This record gives sequence, C-alpha cells and structure tokens, in this order.
Amino acid sequence: MTDTKITLPESEIPRHFYNIVPDLPNPPAPPLHPGTREPIGPEALAPLFPMGLIEQEVSAERFIEIPDEVRDIYRLYRPSPVFRARALEQHLETPAHIYYKSEHVSPVGSHKLNTALMQAYMNRQEGVKRLATETGAGQWGSSLACAAQLMGLECMVYMVRVSYDQKPYRRHMMRTYGAEVVASPSTLTEAGRTILAQDPNSPGSLGIAISEAVEDAAKRDDTKYALGSVLNHVLLHQTIIGQEAMKQMELAGEYPDVVIGCHGGGSNFAGLAFPFLRDRLSGARPTLRAIAAEPASCPSLTRGKREYDFGDTIGSTPLMLMHTLGHEFVPAPVHAGGLRYHGSAPLVSHLLADGHIEAEAYVQGDVFRSAVTFARCEGTIPAPESSHAVHSAIQHALAAKAAGTPTVILFNLSGHGHFDLTAYESYLNGTMDLNA
Ligand SMILES: *Cc1c(COP(=O)(O)O)cnc(C)c1O
Repeated sequence: MTDTKITLPESEIPRHFYNIVPDLPNPPAPPLHPGTREPIGPEALAPLFPMGLIEQEVSAERFIEIPDEVRDIYRLYRPSPVFRARALEQHLETPAHIYYKSEHVSPVGSHKLNTALMQAYMNRQEGVKRLATETGAGQWGSSLACAAQLMGLECMVYMVRVSYDQKPYRRHMMRTYGAEVVASPSTLTEAGRTILAQDPNSPGSLGIAISEAVEDAAKRDDTKYALGSVLNHVLLHQTIIGQEAMKQMELAGEYPDVVIGCHGGGSNFAGLAFPFLRDRLSGARPTLRAIAAEPASCPSLTRGKREYDFGDTIGSTPLMLMHTLGHEFVPAPVHAGGLRYHGSAPLVSHLLADGHIEAEAYVQGDVFRSAVTFARCEGTIPAPESSHAVHSAIQHALAAKAAGTPTVILFNLSGHGHFDLTAYESYLNGTMDLNA
C-alpha cells in the first residue's frame, strides 16, 4: 500500500516558477489602455508594481528562478503534502483514486501566501517600504500581512466595511502580523471620502477597496500595490503547487486523469493545473483533463462572455481579454467570498477558449454537502472556496464508479475553513440558500 500522505523533503521545493506562456499554441492577447484601447506597455503598470514583477507579468521565459531567500521562507510550510483520500474513496465506493494537494497547511491557511511572499520580496528588492492592498473576507489581506512582516515591509489593508464588522478574526490576524487595517470606505483616501460623502453608512465593496489601495500606492513614493489573483505573475508564483504535486504523484506511481481547482480569479487552479497542462500541450498527455470549479452564483467561465473588460468594478484598471460577467456584475452573497469575482485570469480564459481546460459551476447547497462529507471522511474542514473543488472531485469519482473506470483524480485543497464556520453553521442549521 502506498503512503496516505506523500511528502517531499525541503530540498525538493521548486527552484523555478513555470510560465505557461511559451507553451501556448496561440499567444495571449495584450491588456489595453482603458481610454485609447491601445495595447499598454509595461511602463503603464510602473506606478503600482515593481519592475521585477512587471517583467514577470510579460515574460516569455519558460522558467523563472525563485530567489533563495523566498525558498528559505517557503520551508516554513513547503513542500505541502499530497494526501490520498482513502476514507473518502471508501465512503463513495468508487474505483477512482482521489488525491488532494494540501495548500491549507500554510501559516495563513491558504495558497495565497505563496505569491504574497514573492511579491513582498520583489518589492523590497526595489526599495519599496510599504505595501497597500484590499481585502474582502480577509484571506488575501492576512497573506500579504504575513508576507510583508516576514520580509520586513509595512502593510496597509483596506478591508471591505461589512467584512470588517462581521468577520473580525482575520482582521485580528492581520494586526497580529503588524499590518494596519482600516474599514473601506475610509477617510484616508479621496475615493473613500467621496463615497462616504454620498453614503456615510456605505457597506463598502471590493471595487471601492481596490480604488483606495491603488490611490494609496499611487500617491506615496514608498508604497506599491499588491494583487492576490488574476494577473499572470500571480498565477506564475502559484505553479510551485503543481510542480510539487507532479513529483508527489510520481512517488505515488500515478499520473492524474483529471486535475481540479476551484476558480475565483484563477490562481490556485492555474497553480495546480499549469505544470500538468504543459504535458498536455506538448502532446505527452493529450487526454489530461483540467477542470476549474466555480460557483453557480458567479459563473464567469461557464456563462460569461470572453471579451475585454475591466479588472475592477469601477473601471479604472487596464482592459483584459477574459471570460467575464461584466465588471458591474454583483454576485449573490454566497459564502465562498473568494470566488465572487466577475472575471477570470486572462491565461485561464485563453486555455478555456482553446479547449484545453473545462469549467463546471455548482450551487452552494451541493458544495457544502460535499464539504461536510469530506470533513467527516478526511478530518480537514475545507474552505468554502476549496469545497467547490472537493465537490467536483466527488462528482468525477461517482462518474468513475458509474462507468466502472479506475480514474485518478487530483484536486487542490486551496485552504481550510476555520474562519468560515458561520458558513458551516448556516448549512448545518438549514438557513443557507442552498440553490445560490
Ligand atoms: C482567494 C481564495 C480562492 C480563490 O482565488 P483563486 O485566485 O481563484 O485561487 C480559492 N481558495 C481559497 C482558500 C482562497 O483564499
């Protein structure tokens, strides 16, 4: 019997990020200036991001080296284990082999720290002293707060007002890591003051918080902005997940037929799937299926149109070609807050358009039923976001049972749900909107 927990030594932490761009059959479309609709050059991003990250954003190199200092900090939690979900397989009575990559073991409880550390490092290399960002429920904010502290930077987080009031724990976490956290809209920025003048009781939104963080970074010489998903360089940093998982599956003596990640902005899905998709694109594994699982309430990949759209809600970012529901789309308030994004990563969207990946959408009642099943079999309580991947994996395991085929399934457990227990409470108490 192979191990239940497939681990790698720290020496196997990847030395490079994998950039899928040079392996794409068609080149990705460039971002456009929102006014002129002309392709923008790297210099347009310079007020917000350090040059090193902008270079990664537009890079055509297949492998980009991970600095030793970042690898040393990755040792705190990497390589993350791959688990064989034996109890879940038995419960489902499926011939499928189900594996999951456990990104919930990071100190902040999700994959987001992988890119936060790299972004903080690249900023510090260029003399940046302070990072500004937005956060909704607080997953990204707590990751950046932790990374900034570990890299010796200050961190300023604009947290959406409703979450600030209703979800205090991640706010305390950010402050524990030394970050300054304000409710957005705040009186610290022009954008925040304008909103507050119109509505002193504004609950805020991710769009408003982005505007505040961007303004903060644009106004101060010592400060840059950081984004937790969607952009090419963020997806790039997450590919350490898939690279480790490939070695771990090799140790297990298997190659997955299906790899699955939940999809909000696309970074944890891409992180797991892109290294495997390299094999599909090269022709080595032409039948590999990569599946992005999204909420039915925010179905950008399954129901959105692929067109140029803004990355934020107020329309201030460059235009990106992506599957989108429109930047003014407001999804139902489902519990998977990290998946409530109107668009998708341009690279993920590109692969979907070319037929190299698939997308599925699920309602939250089904997602939480699977999340509870998973917790009861495997012990770990998954984040509501990650539970979309759990649910998809269970669907594919049941399909394998119906067809009698021994499918190998690998999914990404992007985070744990310890700060999301009110969502579980509403499911267990029967007050959740199951069809949302
Ligand atoms: C933020 C988040 C997501 C969604 O973001 P992606 O960029 O799509 O990965 C998924 N899972 C967890 C646990 C998150 O915190």
